[in-house]
Amino acid sequence: MFVFFLVFFIFISITMQGLVIKNTGSWYTVKTVEGDIVECKIKGNFRLKGIRSTNPVAVGDHVEIERNQQDTAFITAIGDRKNYIIRKSQNLSKQSHIIAANVDQAFLVVTVERPQTSTTFIDRFLATAEAYSVPVVLVFNKTDLLDDDLMRYQQMMMDLYETVGYKCVPVSAETGDGMDVLMTLLHDRITLLSGHSGVGKSTMINRLLPGVNLRTAEISDAHNTGMHTTTFSEMLPLPGGGYIIDTPGIKGFGTFNMEPEELTSYFKEIFHFSKDCRFNNCTHTHEPGCAVLKAVEDHYIAASRYQSYLSMLEDKDENKYREAY
Ligand code: GDP
Ligand code: ZN
Repeated sequence: MFVFFLVFFIFISITMQGLVIKNTGSWYTVKTVEGDIVECKIKGNFRLKGIRSTNPVAVGDHVEIERNQQDTAFITAIGDRKNYIIRKSQNLSKQSHIIAANVDQAFLVVTVERPQTSTTFIDRFLATAEAYSVPVVLVFNKTDLLDDDLMRYQQMMMDLYETVGYKCVPVSAETGDGMDVLMTLLHDRITLLSGHSGVGKSTMINRLLPGVNLRTAEISDAHNTGMHTTTFSEMLPLPGGGYIIDTPGIKGFGTFNMEPEELTSYFKEIFHFSKDCRFNNCTHTHEPGCAVLKAVEDHYIAASRYQSYLSMLEDKDENKYREAY
């Protein structure tokens, strides 16, 4: 009898460590280090310091939970984050929505055909990912659709971004070509899958994770059209370890105000040349002795990349920035 009580006591008071793998409104699904799946709520008085957010806890967070008798639990503590990705709310509260925390990398899925992803979109995504210190792999999907001309165009794009310093992987989610390369890159990491709608993200997930039901995507999309944008985030476990974060409706990272010097540092090659500019507060637009302008002229910096830099520089108005996504 005594033993029974002792065991019971330990069971109700024990705190456990886990990873938040799903967030549906006020419920958080936590996978404990022991491998159990526990549905959790946040304790009423639990608030995260420093972030005004609609959801203080996000998928990817390492948390401490306290289990109760109903087999549910409270999240009582949250571990330090190495990064977190936010999206500003559309309402006036100026609160942020945390899409995910502790992301190891992002796959930006792009296509040169049906639809053609613009370099401006790619560059904006890359620059903001730099700001969040999230490495990006560019996944060129739908290679099966390309004729010789488009294939050359795609190769040109891949050469450009490889030169800047981004890994590029050509794939076809339809035929399965190149998907093994993605599988290797995904192994044991938390990967955010991004890209315009229609580029093949769902097709890709279905191929990487057969049996995963992407019905959740439709549910979240429906919510995204509502006044109060609720994003249900989910981490899909990979068979060999690692997770894919699939957040429908998220096409890019959050927005924030940047000084020109800061923006420069998010364009790797522009940053490289900017060290030789005459003025250290050079905006690389008109200044004499600007090494970036010279590098653009000499084709060391691609015109498309420089145009993207300028377009971000001109985006003082936050709303205009957001519309670009
Ligand atoms: P998502 O909006 O990014 O999730 O895109 P989907 O996965 O829904 O794909 C959009 C459309 O593109 C669908 O009709 C897919 O069948 C098609 N698609 C996806 N990947 C490929 C591909 O590699 N090749 C071709 N030809 N079509 C593809
Ligand atoms: Zn300059």
